[in-house]
Amino acid sequence: MSPSPAPDGAPPLLQVEGLRTWFPVRDGLMQRTRSWVRAVDGVDLTLDRGFTLALVGESGCGKTTVGRTLVGLERPRAGSIRFDGVELTQLSPAALRPVRRRLQLVFQDPAAAVDPRMRIGEAIEEGPRNFGLPCRSAELLERVGLDAAMALRWPHELSGGQRQRVCIARALALEPELIVCDEALSALDVSVQAQILNLLADLRRQHSLAYLFISHDLSVVRHFAHRVAVMYLGRIVEEGPTGRVFERPAHPYTRALLAAAPRLTPAPHHPTALLAGDPPSPIAPPPGCPFHPRCPEALAGRCAREEPPVLPVAGGGISRCLLAPERP
Ligand code: SF4
Repeated sequence: MSPSPAPDGAPPLLQVEGLRTWFPVRDGLMQRTRSWVRAVDGVDLTLDRGFTLALVGESGCGKTTVGRTLVGLERPRAGSIRFDGVELTQLSPAALRPVRRRLQLVFQDPAAAVDPRMRIGEAIEEGPRNFGLPCRSAELLERVGLDAAMALRWPHELSGGQRQRVCIARALALEPELIVCDEALSALDVSVQAQILNLLADLRRQHSLAYLFISHDLSVVRHFAHRVAVMYLGRIVEEGPTGRVFERPAHPYTRALLAAAPRLTPAPHHPTALLAGDPPSPIAPPPGCPFHPRCPEALAGRCAREEPPVLPVAGGGISRCLLAPERP
């Protein structure tokens, strides 16, 4: 059953507006900034408690940088991040610390995320100890489907799936309200992926957790997310309810991504044209619509000049394409 959206008037748990995270490119000798990698270039997102928003797109589109910026691992250059009504970009590091506890990140590589010199119980209890929270490693291990006795084991003694459960237990130990899952299933076998996905769904229901679910696996996204945001070259080009985005994608880039996803039977409503070439450099994005050099539906004379506005889509959500109003 889907959770209810935030009651009228209540702020969403997470509201991101105009987020920009750029990285300087410096020259060799003087270390002067030559140009900027516009990894995230004006992203808007909203996420309510108990919901999952998936962030999808090709490698290098900026989705991981969005997640890292939200949990404080990167500093935004501009924009607003409001978490539970508090503007995070204006807080001092000391004021930010207790808020950041409520936003946790689960990484792709569970082997790298756990310190090999710590027993599992110590690794889980490290965070709560730093924040003066109760240490409950045995209870947390059982909550993620592991034996409490595993607290005494070392990370190298665990399988990949067990380590990822430990990473989830570490995140839960800090009593978060939002978890950024950055390709959290990618390194796992398919059968283990299903177990972790079910675990995340159970935890979402039990704790009204919100997930920002960063993934390139569209079949997992379709099964797990309530809404989907599609990123291209640092921007959201389409966002909407999962069913609408998969059944009636409004943006040509979304259609190309769906057409490229492996499937057992062809999907007649998706064009067969696949994406050609690589995404342009985020140092010098193309003018007009950034997707126009690769777009099979580009309008001659318009798409290379006009930057598409954000337009509403029938069935919910938005699209950034000059063609959007002409679609049913
Ligand atoms: Fe393609 Fe033009 Fe739409 Fe961009 S604005 S996605 S180039 S049709």
